[in-house]
Amino acid sequence: MKLIFEKSREGIGCSILPDCDVPVCSLSDGQKRQEAWKLPQIAEVDISRHYKELVKRVHGVNDGFYPLGSCTMKYNPQVNEEMAKLPGFTGIHPLQPADTVQGCLSVIKELETDLCEITGMDGMTMQPAAGAHGEFTGLLLIKAYLQAKGETKRTKIIVPDSAHGTNPASASMAGFDIVNIPSNEEGCVDLEALRAAVGEDTAGLMLTNPNTVGIFDKNILDITSIIHEAGGLCYYDGANLNAIMGIVRPGDMGFDVIHLNLHKTFSTPHGGGGPGAGAVGCKEFLKPFLPDDYVVETESGLAMVTPEQTIGRVKEFYGNFLVVVKALAYVKTLGKEGIPEASSNAVLNANYMRVCLKDTYDMAYEGICMHEFVMTLEKLHHDKDVSALDVAKMLLDNGIHPPTMYFPLIVHEALMVEPTETESKETLDHAVEVFKKIYATAMENPEILHQCPMTTPVGRLDEVRAARNPVLKYE
Ligand SMILES: *Cc1c(COP(=O)(O)O)cnc(C)c1O
Repeated sequence: MKLIFEKSREGIGCSILPDCDVPVCSLSDGQKRQEAWKLPQIAEVDISRHYKELVKRVHGVNDGFYPLGSCTMKYNPQVNEEMAKLPGFTGIHPLQPADTVQGCLSVIKELETDLCEITGMDGMTMQPAAGAHGEFTGLLLIKAYLQAKGETKRTKIIVPDSAHGTNPASASMAGFDIVNIPSNEEGCVDLEALRAAVGEDTAGLMLTNPNTVGIFDKNILDITSIIHEAGGLCYYDGANLNAIMGIVRPGDMGFDVIHLNLHKTFSTPHGGGGPGAGAVGCKEFLKPFLPDDYVVETESGLAMVTPEQTIGRVKEFYGNFLVVVKALAYVKTLGKEGIPEASSNAVLNANYMRVCLKDTYDMAYEGICMHEFVMTLEKLHHDKDVSALDVAKMLLDNGIHPPTMYFPLIVHEALMVEPTETESKETLDHAVEVFKKIYATAMENPEILHQCPMTTPVGRLDEVRAARNPVLKYE
């Protein structure tokens, strides 16, 4: 496929802008660009076809099964998009006085109330733009709280080795040192290792539960009390909330601050880079530190206020507000019964696939999983030279988006499958059949797998070169 710049021809164009109906004001020389800008010159119909062709090359949730573990690639109901398109939401200006945007503020406040109930928190900000951004924000809350108490020697954040890479990265960005602790054979927190790691320098712990291997850590109350007794705070990475929403609450597990990936659990299409929202919730004692502004109810309606000891602003204006609208539409549609039902079905679907596959592929951990499970292809790799990557590539030839590969790092040749609740039994059965067919191919003719994918626009990419030497601009 040609780049749009390669399709460009001098003098072809489309002018869709109306004539200027305001006085033209000229810029000073210093404000003008130095060179003419390079834009492709192309007719409107060809622009449309160009992008349509690109769209056809993308695999989205609406194209087929997308079991990308940890990412919760569920179907996002179109009605939520319709809600987010309402002119009352899209037409506001972020600098409008609060009394003229009461409806929008009530969307934020109402979602805060609902999500606090679902998670067991007392307050929540919708400002952060993604999960990682929420982690950073939550850690700044912990830091500000400890500093306000004069506990400046608490500089260490404990992170299990199964954690998502953003956890240590966010803690480091927030100025903490990282203490890594190993997981036990069940993929859960090793209590002895945790006890040995805490001390007077412990600021807190970051944890996701169910964890990144899809297992609910039954010792969670012990874990959070070990941290609290040592004087630290507990941070909950809510990326896996899809497994437990409406069933068990992070606040009741002992967590003080959490983030939710609204784009994962609460229905916003993602995967292409946004927009998302990493809502951050906290217990009462951390509310004074929440980002500026925070929506509160007053006698004259909803208002934006600066919390007393705020960490400041983490994103301009209201954050990615339309993601908040979609999340509220989703929560209201499902309601009190639908929310836990969605989680139960996510867990059921994952276990159905796990049981169908467990006699063919090696599971990294025994027993019942939550919303996702991790397979290890170490033996297949050793015996047949077929890697997790090879299997992922052959899935592409079968119209299935690969599961998450090589994560978590504690599992070798990992494939992490998260079917989500929105897939039918037929889809799961088909995926199981494809997985089994790939396994049979690996046994009989492993060479074929090294040549996959054969049906995609490009085959095997030089990923190292793409990462080290990305060419992102047309010269
Ligand atoms: C997705 C994810 C994150 C990061 O969230 P983003 O919205 O991608 O920044 C953090 N932790 C876990 C376990 C995740 O799956």
